[in-house]
This record gives sequence, C-alpha cells and structure tokens, in this order.
Amino acid sequence: MTADDSDPAAEYDVVIGLEVHAQLATATKMFCGCSASFGAPPNTHTCPTCLGLPGALPVPNALAIDLAAMVAIALDCAVAPASEFARKHYFYPDLPKGYQITQHDRPLATGGALSWRSASGACTVRLVRVHLEEDAGKSLHEGFADSAGSAYLDFNRSGVPLVEIVTEPDMTSAAVAAEFARRLRAVLVAIGASSANMEEGGLRCDANVSLRRRGEAGLGARTEIKNLNSFRSLQRALEFEIARQAHVLDAGGRIDTDTRLWDETRECTVAMRTKEDSEDYRYFPEPDLPPLALAPERLARLRASLPELPGARQARLASAYGLGDDDADAMARTAVTADYFERAAQASGDAAAVCRWMQGELSRRLGEAGLSLERSRVTPQALGALIRMVSSGVVSASAAKQILARMMATGEAADAVASAEGLLQESGSDALEALVDETLSKHPAQVAQYRAGKRAVAGYLVGQVIKASGGRANPSAVDGLVRARLDSPGA
Ligand code: ADP
Ligand code: MG
Ligand code: ZN
Repeated sequence: MTADDSDPAAEYDVVIGLEVHAQLATATKMFCGCSASFGAPPNTHTCPTCLGLPGALPVPNALAIDLAAMVAIALDCAVAPASEFARKHYFYPDLPKGYQITQHDRPLATGGALSWRSASGACTVRLVRVHLEEDAGKSLHEGFADSAGSAYLDFNRSGVPLVEIVTEPDMTSAAVAAEFARRLRAVLVAIGASSANMEEGGLRCDANVSLRRRGEAGLGARTEIKNLNSFRSLQRALEFEIARQAHVLDAGGRIDTDTRLWDETRECTVAMRTKEDSEDYRYFPEPDLPPLALAPERLARLRASLPELPGARQARLASAYGLGDDDADAMARTAVTADYFERAAQASGDAAAVCRWMQGELSRRLGEAGLSLERSRVTPQALGALIRMVSSGVVSASAAKQILARMMATGEAADAVASAEGLLQESGSDALEALVDETLSKHPAQVAQYRAGKRAVAGYLVGQVIKASGGRANPSAVDGLVRARLDSPGA
C-alpha cells in the first residue's frame, strides 16, 4: 500500500497532535557537568550521575531551566511559579538509572500557542504544556563486526537537557503539522534556546494522528509515530499513516492505538508496540530534587531578554517595508533571511526589489552553487548597490543578472563587474550620440515618415539604436536623443 491509495480528505477529518523534543543550547548536561556537545567518541562525556551509578546526585542546570522558560514565554504559555521533577520508570538498556527524570503532574508551563500567517491564511496551534527532561543514551545496532548478535551503548547523550513541547490535537493535515514544526523550530532558533539541529537529533517529533468521519464530534482512536527527525519524514510518515488509517476504516476495521515507527527506506509506518500493553511508568516526584521555583524577577529578566520573534518580525517587515503577507512571511522565515533583507533594503532603498531578487535570482544562484544565504559572497550591501544601479538606469535588468552571477563567483562589487564586462548602459555619452546619428542615417524612410507626422515610428528607431548598442544603451536616454534629433530640422 502507498500513501496515495485513497484520498482520506474526502470522508474524514484528520486530527494531529505533536510532541516535540528539542535539545537545549547548554554546554553541559541537565543534571551533571559533562559536556552536552554532539559527535564526541562514544562514552567520553560521562560521569557517575549520567551513567546512573548508585549514590550519584543530580544538580539542575540553571541555564537549561532559563532556556526552557524562555521557550515557554515565547510561546505565550503560563509558566508555573513552582514545578516538579518526576521519575518516569521503564526498562531499556540506554536508560542506566531505570528511570528518566522528566516533569509529569506539575510541568514547567501550560497553555500557550503558536500562530502564523502565510499564503494559505492564518493558523493557530494551541499548546498543552512545555516541560524539562533529560535525554537517554543511544543504542548502536549497526556498524560493528558482531552487530548481528550484539548492540553497543553510547551514554554521551544520556542526561542531555531537552525541552518537550506538547500541542493540542489542532493540526488538520500532514502539511500543516510539518509547517508547525518548521515555525516552532524558527522560534527555538531565534531565541537561542536550541540549535534544533535535526541531523544531530537536536529536534525530534512524535506525531499522534487519528481520523474521524467528517462532521463527527469527539476524537477517533489514534496512533503515535515516534522519533521523526526531519520535516520531510514527519510529513511523509503522517501522509502514509493517514492513508493507512483511512484504508482500515473504509474496510470497516478499527484503529489499534499503536505506537509506530517510520521506516525511512520502505516509506511506511510499522507497529512497535500497542498502547494496550503500554507500560505503567510508575511516576513519582523525584526525591533528590526540590521543586523548581521560578521567581517573578527571573521570569521578567528572561522575558526582557527575548529577541523579536519570527511572527512579530513578519508583521513589522510587512508594515515597515510595505510587503504583502507572502513576501513578509518569506523574508521573516529565519533571522538570517530577515537580517539580510533589512540590510539590503536599506542599502538599495527599494525593499520590493530586494524581496524579488532574494526570492528569484539570488536564491536560484545560491541553490545552483549549493550555498546558504549565510555563505553567500554577495553581501546585502552589495546586492543593495546592484539594485540601485538598476533603478538609476546605470545597468539594465538583464545585465544585472549577469553581474550578480559574477559577484557570486568572485565576491567583486557590482560596479567593478559592470565596467569590467562592459555592461554599463550608455546614456548621454558622445558614443551614444554617434550611435543615434548613425542609426538615423541608415533609416531615412522612417525619419521622413516621422517628420511627416507619423510620430509612432520614433519607437522603432529607438529600438534600432538599442539593438545597435548590443542592449547596453539606456532606453530613456536613447528615447530623448532620438526625439531631439528627429525634432530638430536640418539634422
Ligand atoms: P500520551 O500521554 O499518551 O502521550 P497525551 O494525552 O499526552 O498522550 O497526548 C499526546 C499527544 O497526542 C498530544 O499532542 C495530543 O494533542 C495528541 N492527541 C491526543 N489524542 C489524540 C487523537 N485522538 N488524535 C490525534 N492526536 C491526539
Ligand atoms: Mg506520547
Ligand atoms: Zn555526567
């Protein structure tokens, strides 16, 4: 079965809720001083605490708490003056203590929402809660000579601080869920709470999805797809799962509330365990940690330290630069894009043109070169200067594209490239006047027609001059010169 076997949109409403885990941007782990950085040789970032050795005590990471609180504030949650850490028990080899320290009954924050505007309209996803927890270690099942019969464990990730963000089941399609995840990532990155690096597992989603017959009240039985670590697999896994559930329901079947895994290579979800035999986690408050109190002054300081959020920036770009919803959305996607746009807009004095170039020629060229905006050799000031040369008629629009290509390759300035490649438009120079004279002398019939009153023929002659210049002549300059010559008797 493939994801497009049936069209669930026809008969069912899709209901999706996400649980997103993001690694917090701290140097050290949640409850010990070990490095939280990614990519070190296995088991080099460990100590008795994150290895779960008897007698080791957790000490909370103050920065992790601040960053999680900033996430909650940025998402308009109500931050609890006091929250509580809890032990969540389960057995798995990568969980050395036999429990994970997380938050359960009394989370860091509740409520909140993420809203955005885009081409397809306004969207709001409400949040249930935001809480702190520690990551588990990593089981390595592949890449060893004895992998067929053994697994290895790497505890570098054990105890790394995570923030978990749980949404209400407010998303109505796989595409909206992926869009939410992208927008959420942009917020986390903008406030510096997480680098949310998906290749490194710094942002992972569990996706809960159910269907119900169109118009029915109440929620259908759901499945949960675990540990999706790219926007693409989030969307693909949901699309598959929606089609699979529709298929089951269409056949008169019932949805088992499974926990499922996304098989990237086979492009399908596979049942991992059923909720019926889901564990009892035996939660209880962590006895080794006092309640987590957040004083109002600390929260006020964190709130004041937040930068402009993507949504606010989009609104400001729209009003300050006169951009439409779509353009403002595109320019405010990431802080890098928005900063680039604002600098180029200031340098060029033409925000609409910058927006066009950034979404058109510049992004096309960057894409071809496999570069991100951050790595572009064309600075925002340099793009601004190029755009100014176009609007003042120094170079033509088509020449500007050629100029950009070379700026991109060499990092030269627009005016240097324009003169080096002979792309400056001629306007008012002696050379241009000579070209006009030469062209008119080649078209005596048209000159006579014009002088006999057929004014429209001037356009033809202007075109001939521009053609003779190889496209370099400035059209309005040529127009002025041609008419002046035609109108002056005896010329
Ligand atoms: P659990 O504790 O089993 O993970 P929660 O009640 O905390 O369950 O919900 C987890 C996520 O599942 C939330 O994002 C929630 O919005 C979503 N969810 C709950 N019920 C449904 C449903 N019927 N369909 C889709 N998503 C759901
Ligand atoms: Mg869950
Ligand atoms: Zn440690």
